Parts: sequence; C-alpha cells; structure tokens
Amino acid sequence: MKRILIMAVAFLIAAAPSFAQVSIDRKVDSLLAIMTLDEKIGQMNQLHPDIHDLETEIRSGKVGSVLSVVGTEWMNLLQKIAVEETRLGIPLLNGRDVIHGFRTIFPIPLGQAASFNPEIVREGAAIAAEEAYHEGINWTFAPMLDISHDARWGRIAESLGEDPLLAGIMGAAMVEGFQGADPENISGIAACAKHFVGYGAAEGGRDYNSTNIPERRLRNLHLRPFKAVADAGVASLMTAFNDNDGIPMTGNTRLIRDILRQEWGWDGMIVSDWESIREMIAHGFCQNEVEAAYKAAVAGVDVEMVSETYIRNLKKMVEDGIVPMSVIDQSVGNILRLKFRLGLFDNPYWKPAEAPSSEKALKTAQKAAEESIILLKNTNAALPLNAYEIRSVAVTGPLADAPADQIGTWVFDGDVTRSVTPIEAIRAMYGDKVEIIYDPILNYSRETLPSDAKKRIRKLAKADVILYFAGEEAILSGEAHCLSSISLQGGQEQLGKLLKETGTKVISIIMAGRPIALKPILENSDAMLFAFHPGSMAGPALTRTIFGEICPSGKLPVTFPVDEGQIPIYYNHNSTGRPSDGKEILLHNIPLNASQTSLGNKSYYLDSGKDPLFPFGYGMSYTSFEYSDIRLSKTEINPGESVEVTLTLKNTGKMAGAEIVQCYIQDEFASAARPVRELADFKKIFLQPGESIEVKMQISPSAMSFYDINMNYSMEKGRFKVFVGKDSNAPLAGTFRL
Ligand code: BGC
Repeated sequence: MKRILIMAVAFLIAAAPSFAQVSIDRKVDSLLAIMTLDEKIGQMNQLHPDIHDLETEIRSGKVGSVLSVVGTEWMNLLQKIAVEETRLGIPLLNGRDVIHGFRTIFPIPLGQAASFNPEIVREGAAIAAEEAYHEGINWTFAPMLDISHDARWGRIAESLGEDPLLAGIMGAAMVEGFQGADPENISGIAACAKHFVGYGAAEGGRDYNSTNIPERRLRNLHLRPFKAVADAGVASLMTAFNDNDGIPMTGNTRLIRDILRQEWGWDGMIVSDWESIREMIAHGFCQNEVEAAYKAAVAGVDVEMVSETYIRNLKKMVEDGIVPMSVIDQSVGNILRLKFRLGLFDNPYWKPAEAPSSEKALKTAQKAAEESIILLKNTNAALPLNAYEIRSVAVTGPLADAPADQIGTWVFDGDVTRSVTPIEAIRAMYGDKVEIIYDPILNYSRETLPSDAKKRIRKLAKADVILYFAGEEAILSGEAHCLSSISLQGGQEQLGKLLKETGTKVISIIMAGRPIALKPILENSDAMLFAFHPGSMAGPALTRTIFGEICPSGKLPVTFPVDEGQIPIYYNHNSTGRPSDGKEILLHNIPLNASQTSLGNKSYYLDSGKDPLFPFGYGMSYTSFEYSDIRLSKTEINPGESVEVTLTLKNTGKMAGAEIVQCYIQDEFASAARPVRELADFKKIFLQPGESIEVKMQISPSAMSFYDINMNYSMEKGRFKVFVGKDSNAPLAGTFRL
C-alpha cells in the first residue's frame, strides 16, 4: 500500500510541470486525498530553530513550515529532509520578518508611507525579496497594515500610516514587490499581511493590549487595507495578538470565516502570530491548550506559529469527532495551495547564485530614503545650505553617526556595514568644500547632557550653521517598545535649547520610529527635517537634501500631536455634535473665578487646543507649487459612478521638486456619522521650475462607499464635499451630489 502511495505521489509531483493547465486547486485536492491525518496536521505546524530540533521534527513529518532559518545551506539541508525523507516529500516554507529590507535596509514602513510613492515601495520590497531568497527565505511576515492613532505604540513604526487608502495602496505595492506580479505564480517570496485585525488600536498604545472596535469601525477603517491586499493577491495573512471586545483575533471565527473567507472569497493561507494560539489561555478565552487548538482551528487559523497546540491535540479531536475533518482539509488545502503558488514542488531547493548587487540595492534604498524625508519648518529659507556660501558646518547630536539606529526597528539580518551615516556622508560629499566641526555631545538618544556640554557647544557655534541630528535609538520603537511620553529622550531638548542660545543658525534633523512631540525642539530650530528611521542610506539622502541637491517631498502619513495628551488624534475622525470652530478659550484666557458654563463649548483641550502640531499629509518643500483651475467632471452622479478632479499644478519656485497632490472628500450626511474628511486619491508629481501640468484624480465609488446603519456596504444619496490641496487641511474645491 505504502509503495503504491509513494509512486502515486511521485507521479503526481514529477508530472506537475506538464500539468500546466491543471489548476492548482486540482493538484491540492489530489495531494490532500492521499495524506494521512498526521501528515495533514504536520503541515499546520510551524517551528523555530531556537526552540525545536528541526531535523528530527521534520523527519517525523511533523512540520509544514519553519521560521527564521537563515542561510541556503542550512535551509537546503532541512528541505532535503522534508523532500526526501518524508513519505510525501512536501517541501517546507521558511518565514522571516523581512519588514523593510533584508541586508540593505530601506526606511521603516512609516517612512516608506511618507513617500506617497507606491513604485519606490514596490522596488524596495522586490530587492528585499531577492536578498532574503538568496539566504533561504521564501516567505516574509510583511506588510504590516495595522492602522494606529497612537504614537506611543512602538509598532506604529512598522505601519503604513493612519489612512486606510494610503496603507492599502502602499501595502499592495509591497505585496507585489515581494511576490511578483502574478499571485498564482509567485516569482519572489510570499507576503503576509498582518496583524488581522485592529492590533494598532491597542488601548493606551500599550502593545498586546485589548482593543474595543465596533464592527462598523472595523470595516470602515481597520479592514480596508487588508481588503486592498487581499484583492491584490497577498499569499498569506497573520492573525493578531489582541482581543477585540473580548474575542482574541486568533480565535475570531466571525472575522476569519465570515468576513475574510466568505465575504471576500480570499483563499490564501492564515498563520497565527507567535504563540498567539496558546496565548488565548492567558487571555482567559480558553481553559487549556486543547481548547486553544480547537478554537483556533475552527476559527480558520491554518498554521500555528511555534506553540504546538495543534500537533499535540488536533488528531484526537478529529478522531473523537470534535473537530470536523473538513476543517483540517480546508487549512491544509490553503497551505498546499501556497506551496504550489510558490512553485515549491518543482523547485524546492535554493540554488547557489551570486549575491544580489548591493550597489543597485543601496541606490534604491537611497531614493526611498530621499523620498521619505519631510520638511517641517524652514524659517527664512534656512534650508537648503549653499556649500559655496558657507565656510563651515558643525555637526552634532546622537543620530549623526549611529549606523544601527538609523536603520530602525525589527531588523534582524541588516548589514550595518552598509549604513552610511550623516557625518560620513557630509565628510565624503562636502568635506572638500566646507570645514566640518564634529562633536556629538550626546552619544545616544537617552543620554543626559555631559557636564562640559556648554564648553563643547561654544566650539560648535563657531561654524556658520549647526546641523543637529536628534531622534530615537532604533530600540525605542517596534514590538513591545511603547512609550508613555513621546518627547525626545535624554538631554536632547536641552541640547537643542543650548545650541539655539549660541545664536548660530540651527537645523534640526530628526530620525525616529514614531511621531515625536516636537514643539520644544521646533522652537529652537531655524529649520527641521524629519525622517522616520530612513535606513542604510540615511546619510547621503539627508546630506543631499540639506545641501539642496534635491527638494524634500515627503508628507506625514500620520498626524503629529502636540503632546501625548492629545492622543488619539487623527485627521479622518467622525463629525461630532460640537466641532471646534477655532474660537475656543484656552487655559491662559480663562478669567479667575469664572462662572461655570458649558454653553458654546466645543471639542478641544483647554491647554493644547484642537489642532495637532502637524496634520496628516503635511510637508513643505524648498520650491513652491500653485494649484489652479480645479474642476470636477460632474456635479451629479449615479450610484456606481466616479468623479474626476482635474487641476493645474505649477512649480512656481526655483528648484525642481515633487508635490503630493491630495484629494479628500466628506460625505456630509449619512445614516451613520462619517469622517470630517477622507483621502480619496493622491498623486505625486515631479516638476521642473516654471513647469506646469494637468493633474487628474479619481473619486471612485469605493471612496464614497461605507458600511451604513444596516452594515451594508453602500453609496448613500446626498452631497459630497471635495477638498484639494497639499495636506489634509486642503481647501474646499467643490461639491457634487449623488
Ligand atoms: C510579531 C510578528 C512577527 C512574529 C515572528 C511576533 O512577535 O508580532 O509580527 O512576524 O513575531 O517573528
């Protein structure tokens, strides 16, 4: 019997290439039909080399995937055991957190989102996939699509910003970069959208904390980027750690089976997060690991990451009729489908190939970093510096020469020797033109000012301008690295003040993993550039921007609060009954012994007002852009129709540069309160000085649709306002009716 089975499988697999016309689903069904229950459950088990004896476990047929095995030799050895020493020879998946690069590091995802350029995101992911594949990886746990309104949450660094349209577009670009253009025939590595869903809304911005998101909000906000990547063919998806309204996401049947599988018809593979199946016991949602395995499997989690409750418990539950065989078959079908989509049955091994060119990778990383830099302040055109006019620059601050910090969080395989720091780049690129005085004063971001700071600062102040590189160490953001204060750490604000007091011009350059409460440092800066940890090529990208070789063009993908007390603050909040009108009385204007009244009061803070420090979409330029002749294609539409917005954009300044033109809409009245405005489309346009161009943007039916009072996805009749401009405070450009 065994011989016949093996021959059948050998035939099936060997013949697979000539079965090009046979659909993957038929191959999956044929293979499923000859698998034992043990073999099926083995496919659902994912193990880690630091915890498990991979060779023994794989040989016994108990492993379908591994994670974090780095190196083709090692991975080929494990693959050989799976392919040659197990009965059916089903190859392994090897997952890894390839979040923003592998050896060459790109800006953290929040920085990539600031570029508003899906093409550069796609190129970066394609390079990361190439580098990771070269080291034995065929599956990445990215992109992270969690929407967060909380800068305290360390993982905001890994997110693609607060806007669901932007996160969906950038996420889909990343998926295409990782996987290649055809999801049925993945030419790169498999992508994994995470964390499904709501994880970014952790209460208080504390990682792993509960979320309480009602279904309409889940659908209108948090699920939207996931839908975008599901439509773009993302190969897999990871369930989140959080419980939402009491139900841990790893056991959430409603979200996984009803919405993701049934409504969306998505047929990719679902993996738990690290031990998130067993953690349902700690959540108090399951009494023991038997129940945890049951709830996760029945909810539709196909693969269990490291906690092994499936391998220990599912078999008995199937034999006892508690877990239906169909549940197992569906999950294993999803796993095998991905292995076929990756072509693993035909090409299970990594072939020795030359390492991908680091030159090309670094060039792309530099472009990505350049496009992610945001100009936040520029008094009296303090920037750019003219290397022919100034004689000397002083360089200071803890991020001026921090090769590991500039690459940001959650980098496990990055080659830090590829990092070019700002001081290195300034010396290499401008050392022959200007005198450079370098003293970091602070060696790392949390350090307090040394006692001789003032004396050392006096030397820096002799230069024509001070470049102050401040921000956060990489370790201060990312998973489990949350902060209750989002001010600059250590002596950095104090250093900023002392620098300013010298009277020398101060340019602050901030590199961080989250929005920072920048007010104190802004006040002490003539100009400020902000870059979410920009990666390997931070130095050259910033240097070129500082010296005006390029114009900064990044825009904020998240709202910057004045301080953490304003959190959560985000641009696309619902209309309230008492919207602020900007005339509110602030703390210092309240008369002594004022009588109690609430009449006329609006939604704002007595101390920090209503406005954030910087709105979503904000970012200045060295050049200037003029918007004119903005018109809508229609003022009345029928359900299902789009509106086109046309405008003329002109570069009216003296430098070539890019503008990110943004179009927002507001559905004025609806069966449920709608956001005050929502991004409907954006375009990144590069123009030479004096050049102008006609820009067209689409307001598509999906931008106008939402989950209504009855939880139906609909476009409701009524008036829509359209706002067009350079950030989320864009002025009204017109209206149309549905
Ligand atoms: C994270 C995931 C990650 C996984 C594997 C978890 O702690 O939440 O995002 O993919 O570890 O490293």
